[in-house]
Amino acid sequence: MPEGMQAPFHSDHMKNVNCEKCLGKETWKPIRAHHCAACGFCVFKMDHHCPWINNCVGHRNMKYFLQFVIYVGISAAYLSLLMFISFYKLLSHSKPKIHMNKPWYAYAFIASIIAFVEGLLFAFFTYELMGEQFESIEDNQSYVDDLKK
Ligand SMILES: [Zn+2]
Ligand SMILES: [Zn+2]
Repeated sequence: MPEGMQAPFHSDHMKNVNCEKCLGKETWKPIRAHHCAACGFCVFKMDHHCPWINNCVGHRNMKYFLQFVIYVGISAAYLSLLMFISFYKLLSHSKPKIHMNKPWYAYAFIASIIAFVEGLLFAFFTYELMGEQFESIEDNQSYVDDLKK
């Protein structure tokens, strides 16, 4: 919520509620806003505070977060596929190649195994996140809204 923003209308039935935690800022807190302790301000339609992007995911950046999750998922799956193809080619050749005798080869081999596992983990992790985000969009309910229920 922008600092100092006031409710667009005010009546006796609908109070202009300010956030108690946004001290001294007098910022309007709509029903679907939630105060984030990590960011220190209120976020409209807050989904969660994401440690990966070090920011809240809410009304204004939900689209970019979803794109971020989809692109990371595709990249991670692609990384694992490339590593898998490399291993397959390596194991299917009977003759050792020249670069296999180089001193860095063992490190590169271990690094590519780590990259393969990391790619798989991130692909599954982002696939789960994608599912949650699409569910949120479908229900028009953020993760915080679900928790408040
Ligand atoms: Zn607040
Ligand atoms: Zn936050």
